[in-house]
Amino acid sequence: MTRIVILGGGPGGYESALVAASLGATVTVIDSDGIGGACVLTDCVPSKTLIATSETMTNLALAPGLGIRPHGLGSATEPVLPAVAWGMRSGLDSAVPPLTPPEVVSVDPEQVYERVRELAKAQSLDIEHRLEREKVEVVHASGRLVGPHAIETNTGETFVGDVILIATGASPRDLPTARPDGERILTWRHLYDLKEIPEHLVVVGSGVTGAEFASAYRAMGAEVTLVSSRERVLPGEDPDAARVIEDVFVRRGIEVLNRSRAASVRRIGDGVIVELTDGRTVTGSHALMAVGSVPRTKGLGLTDVGVRLGPGGHVNVDRMSRTSVPGVYAAGDCTGVLPLASVAAMQGRIAMWHALGEAVSPLRLGTVSSNIFTEPEIATVGVTQVMKDTGAVAAEVTTVPLSRNPRAKMMGIEDGFVKLFCRPGSGSVLGGVIVAPRASELILSVSLAVEHGLTVDQIAHTFSIYPSLSGSITEAARVLRPRDFFAGFDNPV
Ligand SMILES: Cc1cc2nc3c(=O)[nH]c(=O)nc-3n(C[C@H](O)[C@H](O)[C@H](O)COP(=O)(O)OP(=O)(O)OC[C@H]3O[C@@H](n4cnc5c(N)ncnc54)[C@H](O)[C@@H]3O)c2cc1C
Repeated sequence: MTRIVILGGGPGGYESALVAASLGATVTVIDSDGIGGACVLTDCVPSKTLIATSETMTNLALAPGLGIRPHGLGSATEPVLPAVAWGMRSGLDSAVPPLTPPEVVSVDPEQVYERVRELAKAQSLDIEHRLEREKVEVVHASGRLVGPHAIETNTGETFVGDVILIATGASPRDLPTARPDGERILTWRHLYDLKEIPEHLVVVGSGVTGAEFASAYRAMGAEVTLVSSRERVLPGEDPDAARVIEDVFVRRGIEVLNRSRAASVRRIGDGVIVELTDGRTVTGSHALMAVGSVPRTKGLGLTDVGVRLGPGGHVNVDRMSRTSVPGVYAAGDCTGVLPLASVAAMQGRIAMWHALGEAVSPLRLGTVSSNIFTEPEIATVGVTQVMKDTGAVAAEVTTVPLSRNPRAKMMGIEDGFVKLFCRPGSGSVLGGVIVAPRASELILSVSLAVEHGLTVDQIAHTFSIYPSLSGSITEAARVLRPRDFFAGFDNPV
């Protein structure tokens, strides 16, 4: 029987353990911080739980636009809710007063943070129990490689495996001039220990993490300044999608400072001061450092046993998750391949299928879908606008604004779009971008098309519900095949 020892119990580790156990291996998972990993305990799950609250606040803020006048909520022109009607283009913006403390509906920070912590803890326990049910041995300890087949823990035990999987994840990047203190200068892992919603949160970094928290805290009543070193927010994302989000941010009162690099962050009394490299300063009550992550590969003994690391400290792996040492595999954020829970889990599964002699295909990143949980969300899969614009991929593209979608009109949604890329000639769907509320739930049909090589004709021939946001996906497909279909065909409203 093959013995597998896994270092790290996040999605890269626990998903591998489940696969290996189902294939009859003897499996041990060693984890120092809690099963589920940073994904479940501090990063992905907590942030999306917090965003469930902020999303509800956004819906409440937009409710007057749908004719809802809950008692005490005021009228659409005299909003009492902080930021009631913010974000609406319909001329109400000018009627929105500067953000005032919530008077009718407010977030109870302690309850919100407690809910986040409890939900994360419960999910971690659920996963641990599942592992135990599958007869996976779980060891709560910190470990390091002491040979290509052996891991030693800080509790003095040594675990020997035919196969070792490294899945130790990553930690927030620290800037020497902006050291987090956990009280006012924060990483995303400190947020859930706060007692309050920051009065004025200065978010340093406008990548996915920075944008998600800026969006969420603004919706929960904080004043937010977003410091972005680049031309626009979300520099790595679809430029049209990023423009929509930046526009929504500005309309909702987030101060976006583009081309503004933070040089340092310091505490001043009960607040923070962020100094920019051009000499300007921004003050706030709290600063959130969202400047990326570093792999947790230091002190693991990896290079001592011959495991090669990249310049940033990531474990070098191939598409089968193999490292430079036979029998040692790696998965997840420690590899720097693509920092997503779904990718970590897939890398881990591939490693186990490969190690245990199953038929397995190498990891294909071209079909990974990902989502940014701002409001609205941005979901993407496959070929990107940059790939098309640089000629890296030959593609036709069309973009259908949601403002044309009947369901969106009914729901008062004014921002967002569906963009589809297809191969010229064959019409195979190559990728897509959806900017919409719950875009994460809409992208699956595009992902299926990309994964299985469906054509825009096939999508165009598929019934979508009328009226529905997904109707814009079939409409985009029809636009890409205008000879066969009238593009506005099911868009009578
Ligand atoms: C704020 C935020 C939000 C995110 N939201 C999403 C999202 O919505 N969707 C998504 O797909 N991804 C999201 N991600 C990314 C996702 O969290 C990561 O890609 C995922 O956690 C990677 O899984 P992993 O198994 O590689 O590592 P982790 O989840 O970090 O787990 C690694 C585990 O290894 C353990 N470990 C480390 N060193 C040792 C050691 N020496 N000995 C023993 N154990 C050790 C740690 O304790 C940890 O439990 C988000 C990330 C951030 C920062």
